[in-house]
Amino acid sequence: LLGADGQLRPTIFAEMSALALSTGAINLGQGFPDEDGPAEVLEAARQAISDGFNQYPPGLGMPVLRHAIADHQRRFYGLEVDPDTEVLVTAGATEAIAATILALTEPGDEVLTFEPFYDSYGAMIGLSGATHTTVALRAPNFQPDHDDLRKAVTDRTRIILINSPHNPTGSVFDRATLHLIVELAERHNAIIVTDEVYEHLLFGSQHIPIATLPGARERTVTISSGGKTFNTTGWKIGWLTAPPEIVKSIVAVKQFLTFVNGAPFQPAIAVGLGLPDSFFTNLAGTLQRKRDLLSAGLAAAGFTVTNPQAGYFIVADAAALGYANGADLCRALPSLAGVAAVPISAFVRGDQPEFASLVRFAFCKKQSVLEDASARLAAL
Ligand code: PMP
Ligand code: GLN
Repeated sequence: LLGADGQLRPTIFAEMSALALSTGAINLGQGFPDEDGPAEVLEAARQAISDGFNQYPPGLGMPVLRHAIADHQRRFYGLEVDPDTEVLVTAGATEAIAATILALTEPGDEVLTFEPFYDSYGAMIGLSGATHTTVALRAPNFQPDHDDLRKAVTDRTRIILINSPHNPTGSVFDRATLHLIVELAERHNAIIVTDEVYEHLLFGSQHIPIATLPGARERTVTISSGGKTFNTTGWKIGWLTAPPEIVKSIVAVKQFLTFVNGAPFQPAIAVGLGLPDSFFTNLAGTLQRKRDLLSAGLAAAGFTVTNPQAGYFIVADAAALGYANGADLCRALPSLAGVAAVPISAFVRGDQPEFASLVRFAFCKKQSVLEDASARLAAL
């Protein structure tokens, strides 16, 4: 958590968003949409405030939302989840990740993540006192090597933390990889924690929750959030589903992190989870067109681009443009081109040359903004 000078440092997202703001650059760094989500969802939050849902909600989350989460898992994935004992509403996926890691690990346990990894994973593993181990996701496909995975999981591995679709690379784990993860978790008695916040943002393939695989459900904590699906990242309504005993341990931690959160937003996200299939299909379709637009813009500007299969982000290699260091480029990019991005080095530990020239651009923005950004980058 500390920088080289021993001081607490802001997250890379906060740093780059502040830089975008101070320079007037287009912010393709932090991943948040620049348009509101479905009107029904926004209206439901206003209504909930008018109806007086303004005090502490129940510890597990409001029943209407817990039922909506269970219905969603059944409707999309055929998963049966008990809304009274197997669902916990959290302050975003971020709190679900934090409470899960703190609840399930002891100092000395290992938590395995893939690398690059979402920044909060490393921070929370550090705070818990567990040991962080990793398996690399390498360009251009950002898929784990199965032999690397077999070697990395041992009897010391308490949690295998997966994130598919993946931030920052947009890769999606195939069924064979998911099967191997379940097999290794069973063999070494590890818990699988799966961060599925981009579950509705796949371009072409179907999301496979690892909990649907044989042997997985009883050892899996599935985490998601309303932020990405309903363009409500500021509401911080997330959740997890897991077997009752695991939920109980996580609640024991959550109650002292935030106790409860977001009363009027909970019934609103419940409305969102019940929207018709067409909403979810259109969401991915619209985002795919945005991906294509920015991907073409980055390629035209001289970056080497691999098209992500899902999510909000494109990883672009700046080496062909003559920039060996993505972090230096990101610090200069707002003044050079009027665009902000984040370096992949912020999602890996230490200096790793293979990731050094990679930069992440968010495409969850209006078409006109992406066109403007592409035109600016063309000047590089
Ligand atoms: N996990 C991943 C992989 C993310 O990308 C994000 C945020 N973009 C989160 C968790 C945090 O989600 P929330 O905003 O719901 O806390
Ligand atoms: N998850 C978003 C991203 O990856 C931002 C979240 C944050 O700022 N912590 O850009």
